[in-house]
Amino acid sequence: MPAKPTTRAVALTTTLAALATGATIGPLASAQERQAPAAPGLAPAPGPTLVESLPGGTWRTVAERERAEQERLERERARERERAARERAREAMRFPIDEEGEVDYGEAGARFGDNRAGRAHQGQDVFAPAGTPLVAASEAEVVEAGGGEGDGRGNHVALHDERRDRTYVYFHMSGSPRVEVGETVVAGQRVGSVGCTGSCSGDHLHFEIRRGEGADGEALDPLEVMRGWPRG
Ligand SMILES: [Zn+2]
Repeated sequence: MPAKPTTRAVALTTTLAALATGATIGPLASAQERQAPAAPGLAPAPGPTLVESLPGGTWRTVAERERAEQERLERERARERERAARERAREAMRFPIDEEGEVDYGEAGARFGDNRAGRAHQGQDVFAPAGTPLVAASEAEVVEAGGGEGDGRGNHVALHDERRDRTYVYFHMSGSPRVEVGETVVAGQRVGSVGCTGSCSGDHLHFEIRRGEGADGEALDPLEVMRGWPRG
């Protein structure tokens, strides 16, 4: 006649049976109970391994392991989504004037290429009230920042977008630039305010897009490009 199972062995058998059916069980049995030898006459627990050992002599069930793995995968996916969002933000363009409502591109005289006393206008003028925030069109390095009334450009900045190899130039800002040469700005970061310093009549942003790094590269017509940039 088989020996009567010990109380501990009965508890272990009950726990294993509950795990095998997928039932929710209470707190895990202690490691000592798990390691208790099966009583004579009791068959080994059937089915897959239900517990695994962890470093430090602790245990967890397969369900716990799967839950932990699921959580790890979810954390990984969340990190990937954050990384992608950061990358999109870094690649994003922003309209250089942070204002709502219709953009005022002015008349033909405001256009790129307009004849200004024998010299072609190198940018697009965009009209907005003095003090309207001017923001970086993209992630870029500040390559020029300066001005004053003695300078035809007035208070100005030039931002080099290394990703696109373009330099965005802002003229006639009111007040000093809010950024310094060498600084990296992100799209939408405040660089100054609309004004009318330098050779200017009427508050506006004179905006240029230059090929390459610096304000001396080939000037490109900004209008169509700017129209596609999202606004604040
Ligand atoms: Zn202009």
